[in-house]
This record gives sequence, C-alpha cells and structure tokens, in this order.
Amino acid sequence: MRKWLLLILISALLLISSCQEENPYTEYQFIMDTQCAVTVYKRADRQAIAGVFSLLRELDSKLDRFNESSEVYRINLNAGSMPVSVSDDTFRLISRAYDLCLATDGAFNPLMGRVSDLWGFESTNERVPSAEEISSLVSHTDISGLVLDEEEHTVYLVDSQAALDLGAIAKGWASQLAADYLKSRGVERATVNLGGNVYVIGQHKDGRDWVVGIQNPYAETGGYYATVQCHDEAVVTSGGYQKNFVRDGVVYHHILNPETGRPSDSDLISISIISADGALADAFSTACFVLGYDETVKLCEEYNVRAVALTEDDEVKFINF
Ligand code: AMP
Ligand code: MG
Repeated sequence: MRKWLLLILISALLLISSCQEENPYTEYQFIMDTQCAVTVYKRADRQAIAGVFSLLRELDSKLDRFNESSEVYRINLNAGSMPVSVSDDTFRLISRAYDLCLATDGAFNPLMGRVSDLWGFESTNERVPSAEEISSLVSHTDISGLVLDEEEHTVYLVDSQAALDLGAIAKGWASQLAADYLKSRGVERATVNLGGNVYVIGQHKDGRDWVVGIQNPYAETGGYYATVQCHDEAVVTSGGYQKNFVRDGVVYHHILNPETGRPSDSDLISISIISADGALADAFSTACFVLGYDETVKLCEEYNVRAVALTEDDEVKFINF
C-alpha cells in the first residue's frame, strides 16, 4: 500500500464534534512519521501550539529507532555490549513499555524490532520471510533481556540480537505528554491527534463531552463505524488495515503476534482503547489486536478501561461502557 494512502488511512480516528461558536483552530505538522494535528478553541491558546510541536519533535528525536542520533538507536546499537544512559523521558517510557508487556502477557512486546524489520513494514522492501528466519529472531525477544537501572538511568539489552521498537506505544504516550503540556499552559479545551492517536482535553464549552469517531476500516477516511464520548482521555486504535502489503493474494499486516513472529490472526478487525493513560491505551490497543475479543474483554475489565471492537463477523462491541 502506498505511503500517502496509508497516511490517510491511519487517521483512524476522526474528531467529529465541533461547535460553531467555539471557533476550532488547527495546525498540522508531520512528526513521528505521521500527520499530527493540534486543535484549540480560544484565540489565546493558539500560541501554545508551537510548543506542542517542538515537544513532539524532541520526543521523536529520542525515540525514532531509525534515527542514528536517537537514544533508542544507541540502545539497539549497544545491545549485548553495554548499558546506555538515557534522558528521563525515554527512561520513563521504556519502563512503562516493560510493565505493559508484562500486563499484556507479552502480547505487546517492545522487543519486536528485528522481527518487524524482517517483514520490511517500515521500508519499501516488504517481503514474506522464511519460517527459519522468523523463528531465529523470535527467540531474541524475551522481555527479561531488557534491563533498566533506575539509579543510573540506563537501559541495557542483554541480547545482541534484540532491538527495541516503541512504535506501538510512543504515539499514545506522546499524545498524553502533549495534552499535559497544553494544560500546563492553561489550555482548557483542545485535541491532539497523532495520526489517529487522539487525546482530548476538557469538554465543550457547554459541558458536553467530545464525540470521537472511529474509522471504519472498510470505508473512506472519515467514514466511521462507531463514536465514543469522552473527556481528558486518549482514544487509540489498532487495526491490520492501517499498514499492510499483499503477496499472492494474502494480506500481511504490521501487528505481529510475538509468539509466532507473524502478523496476528485474531478475530478483531479494529480495536480502540479509551483511557486517560495514553501509553496504556496505545500498548493495549496493539496487545488486544493480537489477543482477540475474549482476552480484550478480560484485560479491559482488569484495568478498568473502555474499548470499542470491530470483530471479523462485523459486530461492533462496546466494552466497559
Ligand atoms: P500500533 O499501530 O500501535 O498497533 O503499533 C504497531 C507497530 O508496533 C508496528 O508497526 C511495529 O513497529 C510494532 N509492533 C508490531 N507488533 C507489535 C507487538 N506485538 N508488540 C509491540 N509492538 C509491535
Ligand atoms: Mg499501539
């Protein structure tokens, strides 16, 4: 699938609420490999937008594993050789990724970098790897090989063949940091949309919640299959329709089952997680897509988060609403 088409498709969530008298004002920038949009409603809040984009650019410069000057690149480069000292932000995010891997029983696994590279999802060389290639790398994704030292603020990958990939958690986490930043600047009402990872701040002026539309995987951008009402929460969606390629009539998508190293094959077409915790919403959306509907219900109940699922039978399920 072409990159621009993808970009359009991954705006999986569409903010459909607007209120004429509130004068929404939006600025866009391409950061974290996606189209980012920040919308504010008061004229005075517009001056806070530039700070959000510079925050996002700074996070991206630390977390992009393909950027040779990023912290994650350095961690991967030194895998099996030595711990790498990182910034507070990066340390906190990787700690969350570690915890969320355990919370999802490994369905969200931030050490899938090398396996993902094998399939070429992030490049133009998409291909179907052999079973041997896959199994030889899946054996290097054990989360116990991610060693975090709180005191030294270092991250160490014990296994030289392991590679950190924060692609399934970084945007949800960044959207929350962006929201926190806007609130710290006194902004009471805004939305941050990082390629479909939405964080809504506050409510409408008249006290109504935001209404966030969830992209229908079978429809054009802007066609949604469900809406959710929320305030001060992230709404994060994962789906195989967001990034994939076709070989010999088979669709291979970018969300891998960490147990098999192959695109997951659950009964979900799309899953959206709604939570004030942006990192959790993002990591859980990926994990739930792998785990399937029944396990999603259990996980959402255990962590008390809401979710909207589209199953392969085309049923729409609202979980914990
Ligand atoms: P998301 O769109 O949040 O579901 O994240 C998908 C991205 O996370 C992929 O493009 C990979 O970079 C990475 N990824 C794929 N499968 C997994 C997984 N099971 N756990 C963690 N990261 C993954
Ligand atoms: Mg995710």
